[in-house]
Amino acid sequence: MTPTPPFTDEHEELRASVRGFIERELTPHAEQWERDRWFPDEVFGKLAAQGLLGLKYPLEYGGQGGDYLHDAVLVEELARTGSGGTAAGIGAHVSIATPPIWKFGTEEQKQRYLAPAIRGEKIGALGITEPGAGSDVAALNTRAEPVAGGWIVNGEKTYITNGVRAHFIVTAVKSTSEGGHHGISFLIIDRGEGVSSSKLEKLGWHASDTASISFQDVFVPEQNLLGGLHEGFALIMANFQWERLAMALGAVGAMQLAWERTVAFAHERNTFGRPLAGHQAIRHRLVDLATSAHTCRCVTYDALRRFVAGEEPVREVTMAKLLTQRASFELMDACLQIHGGAGYMREYWVERAARDARLGPIGGGSDEVMREILGRVLGL
Ligand SMILES: Cc1cc2nc3c(=O)[nH]c(=O)nc-3n(C[C@H](O)[C@H](O)[C@H](O)COP(=O)(O)OP(=O)(O)OC[C@H]3O[C@@H](n4cnc5c(N)ncnc54)[C@H](O)[C@@H]3O)c2cc1C
Repeated sequence: MTPTPPFTDEHEELRASVRGFIERELTPHAEQWERDRWFPDEVFGKLAAQGLLGLKYPLEYGGQGGDYLHDAVLVEELARTGSGGTAAGIGAHVSIATPPIWKFGTEEQKQRYLAPAIRGEKIGALGITEPGAGSDVAALNTRAEPVAGGWIVNGEKTYITNGVRAHFIVTAVKSTSEGGHHGISFLIIDRGEGVSSSKLEKLGWHASDTASISFQDVFVPEQNLLGGLHEGFALIMANFQWERLAMALGAVGAMQLAWERTVAFAHERNTFGRPLAGHQAIRHRLVDLATSAHTCRCVTYDALRRFVAGEEPVREVTMAKLLTQRASFELMDACLQIHGGAGYMREYWVERAARDARLGPIGGGSDEVMREILGRVLGL
């Protein structure tokens, strides 16, 4: 089949090999990891051995020397684990924790954090959200007080993916007493004295490690300042486009998988003397779902194409995030409905898929925040 732009034959070859690896090494364990509420840290090592934690990073740090399109393949294919939590834990490391170090880090920081992260030896998390600051990022209150040789950090982060297992947390802090847009900085905080985490129970993404992290009088040396002092807001903004694209790609992958599995079920399950797929109402529903999945793919790939071409496609990326996350949840709900009572049972994948998809309209900037951005971009 001809690849859909912006992907080329080379990307499709990568896709086939990534898919094979995921279906062999991750998918068979995903159910157990969901039950355990945890996937093992060794997964990072396995991915690293395939070069998958550094697809877009330069060779000098142990990466594969590729670009965002190679990572896009990985992010979309991770949906094939069938476990949103597993995909999220890997995604947080690859798509949100390490990119700021790559873009804004000093050479020494790249050697100390990025290279071991690519080797799967150090796991990363991005710590921005706080109990009192989610959508309103500028309201964050984790305080970094300057002291000789660095800062003392006090405060609390919440809902942080990889928050228990992470060896380092790329952390947004208030570096002036006023904070806000001109008073936020980023520190790379190592797990150590004064850093404690507690895991949170949640509706979906069970295999992922979502945690509150408390910082109590944590000394952070000055060489761990990431980017410019008080320039952290720009750093937050810099990765939002990729994070949102990654979420859209994840939704596109999950929708495709759910559709394929539901079509298979609709051919197997008989009611009133024929397979479900033989009933016009179900067939039409499946057609609508395929149309929705295709629309989401087109909108996402268009945003991705612009992004890799070096445009600043805020409008297209925001639309892709807004469209795909809600559409994915709606598609999962429709797939669950087609499964009937089975769809409500833990033993069927679709129950989990529906729970997992519910995060999309909240995380990485909620639907309401996307609409606010679009309102501005569209000049409303
Ligand atoms: C499973 C999970 C994993 C996460 N992982 C991470 C992570 O790794 N790192 C990290 O930093 N964060 C992470 N988050 C946090 C996530 O980004 C936030 O939950 C999200 O940005 C929303 O913030 P909030 O929860 O504080 O909601 P709030 O900001 O309190 O918003 C509550 C509701 O009000 C709406 N709302 C807010 N302001 C407005 C407005 N002006 N107009 C209209 N509606 C508005 C919101 O859209 C939302 O529906 C994660 C969250 C979850 C649930």
